[in-house]
Amino acid sequence: MNLEEFVKKLGLTINPKLHVVVLTGAGISAESGVPIFRGKGSMWENPEARKLASKAGPPWNTRETWEFYEWRRKLVSKCKPNAAHYTLVEMEKYFEDFCLITQNVDGLHGKAGSKNVLELHGNMWKGRCVRCGKIVSLPETPLKNIPPYCECGTALRPHVVQFGEPIDPNVLTAALTACSRAELFFVVGTSGVVSPAAQMPLIALQHGAKVVEINPNPTVLTPYMTISIRGKAAEVLPQLWKTFLLFSQKQEVKF
Ligand SMILES: [Zn+2]
Repeated sequence: MNLEEFVKKLGLTINPKLHVVVLTGAGISAESGVPIFRGKGSMWENPEARKLASKAGPPWNTRETWEFYEWRRKLVSKCKPNAAHYTLVEMEKYFEDFCLITQNVDGLHGKAGSKNVLELHGNMWKGRCVRCGKIVSLPETPLKNIPPYCECGTALRPHVVQFGEPIDPNVLTAALTACSRAELFFVVGTSGVVSPAAQMPLIALQHGAKVVEINPNPTVLTPYMTISIRGKAAEVLPQLWKTFLLFSQKQEVKF
């Protein structure tokens, strides 16, 4: 893999003023050991997960739902951000206009140090009141009380978008706006099958962005990408970022 060739192919001047958007999916978390939802090795292969999940359900603020979430939270609490997460922290510091959009609910971007993260599907370390809408940080596992309660006296639900539920319109609007402004867009570890995230790289392309895909396998998005790099996010992203920085320094010297 010759990353210099890839960067040349993009034909962009790398500088802090570029509008940059990154969309991350389950792949980046899986590299940190977070149990995945789809495909081989998914958490549904674990009978305990299936049993707990079968009892979780609307209105989602029940003991049964939180027992399933506590099972997941305990597993994720042992996972650490990887080199890809940390590279995104560096990128956020470098670019003045940088937007990180994630489909992951594990909070690993925040744990790595990313400041502004649009969490499309919420965050498993937060609860939301089904009555007053207050969002409460719940960083500890195990929780003292299951279900945890809001100060208004109502049981909280996990602040996570369940299958079939809509994404928070404020989060979605912010993400789509960023996509339409992007000049450089990275798709990292997402299979491109879950909407509306799957449309985001295509929206960026339509508005003239160069889109870079990083994924171990080809995806449905691959044919549309400006460049597509096969590999693990934790390996490719740090190297690619180093190459970008080398290019930006060359350009500074040149001009
Ligand atoms: Zn409340």
